[in-house]
Amino acid sequence: MQILEATGPRSLANFASCWLCALAHLLITGGAGFIGSHTALVLLEAGHSLVVLDNFSNSSPESLRRVAELAGLSDASRLTVVEGDIRSAADLDRAFNAGARPALAPKSIEGVIHFAGLKAVGESVQEPLRYWDVNVGGSRSLVEAMRRHGCRRLVFSSSATLYGYPEAGPIPETAPVQPINPYGHSKAAAEQLLADVAGSEPGWHIARLRYFNPVGAHPSGRIGEDPGGTPNNLFPFISQVAVGRRPQLQVFGGDWPTADGTGVRDYIHVMDLAEGHRAAIDRLLSHAPELLTLNLGSGQGHSVLELVRAFEQASGCSVPTAIGARREGDAASTVADPSRAATVLGWRTRRSLAEICRDGWAWQRANPQGYGSPTSA
Ligand code: NAD
Ligand code: UDP
Repeated sequence: MQILEATGPRSLANFASCWLCALAHLLITGGAGFIGSHTALVLLEAGHSLVVLDNFSNSSPESLRRVAELAGLSDASRLTVVEGDIRSAADLDRAFNAGARPALAPKSIEGVIHFAGLKAVGESVQEPLRYWDVNVGGSRSLVEAMRRHGCRRLVFSSSATLYGYPEAGPIPETAPVQPINPYGHSKAAAEQLLADVAGSEPGWHIARLRYFNPVGAHPSGRIGEDPGGTPNNLFPFISQVAVGRRPQLQVFGGDWPTADGTGVRDYIHVMDLAEGHRAAIDRLLSHAPELLTLNLGSGQGHSVLELVRAFEQASGCSVPTAIGARREGDAASTVADPSRAATVLGWRTRRSLAEICRDGWAWQRANPQGYGSPTSA
């Protein structure tokens, strides 16, 4: 695999604007992945400069080449990519040191957005040790590196999966954390680790963001979700049926206690989610130390069949479905109460289900095989 490296110094003009606008130099772990790549684009467009650390275990460097292109970077001066693993202290040090450029930009990494991790529920049941190793051990290594490098601002990718089988109705952050699989346990443990660290020494600025169901793609169709193998999640599965890669969608249960009998989720456009990260890091950069826990969702629930219909409308393609058995471990309905994020960050979702489907289809149609990397098979 080709390793991308910084190819040039930050220009003096950029550097001057950093000082004037309090733009930051940020480390993005897992920045080549689905949510990380969209967030990297939003942060670059906002003027921040980034170091991405990724081992490309579930992504391709091509996503970052396209991010650079969409951000209009004429050189690589605001985007440095380090191939490495969050569990390796040496790789983390390389990433933190890549952020410090004494000659032209005497700034080191001021904040971290930590996306790197494993996220497949079924796989986590088969390989729990790997999930604890990467999601918990990797987060611990990262926090240790942050302490070594004097960086105490961290946005962490958490998940609504923490809520397990939630009670009916929108879920507030105060709902019990009761995960039902090793993936959820690893996210809960990493959240706890961060709370313990924040409680143990002053000066930490931490936002634990609990995402609901991130879907869609950048409207250009240049970057999007590229799941390896058969998608576990509904949206990429529907997209692949629409584009002809798979014959039909199996709907996991038609007898749920919901309006049409199919499962309800809170689908959030990945660009809304990316903007939520920008709001969170901007908050951490400008406020006193704090530990935030915030749901990032739309507050709107949509059923499987509603999503299928919206996708058919957006794509003009039919998506054959067959109602099958319920999937083990599924909840009937999971919808965010996103009001705390609105109050604290001034952020809320802006994009509709129709836009989610339009943009997801633009990506799928233009990239039927994803980025074409081995993980896209
Ligand atoms: P993704 O797999 O597309 O991105 C994760 C990135 O991390 C990939 O680029 C992968 O190569 C990298 N990575 C994995 N292990 C690594 C390691 N040990 N060292 C360095 N890099 C490593 O996933 P995503 O959908 O973008 O999710 C990002 C984060 O958000 C994850 O932590 C995930 O658990 C969390 N999350 C995702 C969803 C979702 O539905 N996509 C929902 C809730 C939470
Ligand atoms: N789902 C489905 N068929 C699939 C994948 C998912 O019917 O092939 C349903 C699933 O039961 C749930 C919804 O789609 O009701 C969203 O599932 P996904 O795995 O995308 O998200 P999660 O369940 O993790 O929130």
